[in-house]
Amino acid sequence: MRSTAALIPLLFAVLTTALPAQKLGYDDTPFLPGGKWRVHDSKRPQPPVMEPGPFVALPRPKDAIVLFDGTDLSKWTGRNDKASWKTESGYMEVNRTGEIRTRDNFGSCQLHVEWASPTKVKGNSQGRGNSGVFLMGRYEIQVLDCYENQTYPDGQAASLYGQEPPSLNVCRGPGQWQTYDIFFAAPRFDDQKKLVSPARVTILHNGIIVQNNAAFIGSTTHKRVGKYGAHGPGPIKLQDHGNPVRFRNIWIRKL
Ligand code: MG
Repeated sequence: MRSTAALIPLLFAVLTTALPAQKLGYDDTPFLPGGKWRVHDSKRPQPPVMEPGPFVALPRPKDAIVLFDGTDLSKWTGRNDKASWKTESGYMEVNRTGEIRTRDNFGSCQLHVEWASPTKVKGNSQGRGNSGVFLMGRYEIQVLDCYENQTYPDGQAASLYGQEPPSLNVCRGPGQWQTYDIFFAAPRFDDQKKLVSPARVTILHNGIIVQNNAAFIGSTTHKRVGKYGAHGPGPIKLQDHGNPVRFRNIWIRKL
């Protein structure tokens, strides 16, 4: 009879081959409109990975409103009517003090945001470098470290979170600055508060178009299908998901 010690490697081998690979999403969530994929569907195809070119930022147009120039958070607010993220060396950093949002409200816009996921890689899937840019306070463009880090496709960087994956994964590595250039058309509602046209967005991630006039199904939610409720202009909101993601050079043009 084998000794217990001799059985340990065998037991380990059985366990590691029998355990399924880490599941990247869900298969018990409701279907998105169209009935093909579920919300955060684990089986939805991963966007192909493509290396972006060198860092280039669009020059700030003369009529742009500067939301963050690297030094102060005066255009932002948050918990207890104060934006308390760390600011240093020309950037701000998520520090678990809660989401921050602009004091002003916006509708349709052109928005430039630069972000960097933490240099120190920690966590995986949705737990690595998670933040987000919310348009009108409701519609999230996901920020996530997707460099050699798979997650469910509708939760990738530059996804319409929980709704629409980007066409490509063009993420730079941890700690490297990345750009989002977001062209957003606000949703329209009629006098009866019925949706007339959905929110739509085109996104350049690191200069590459990865969302082309994509429509939001509704407000961003988790594990559910987003719905619309009539609303007016809202703030640009940045998510505190507990990871020290950095932001810099944020400007907006009203459209
Ligand atoms: Mg997020």
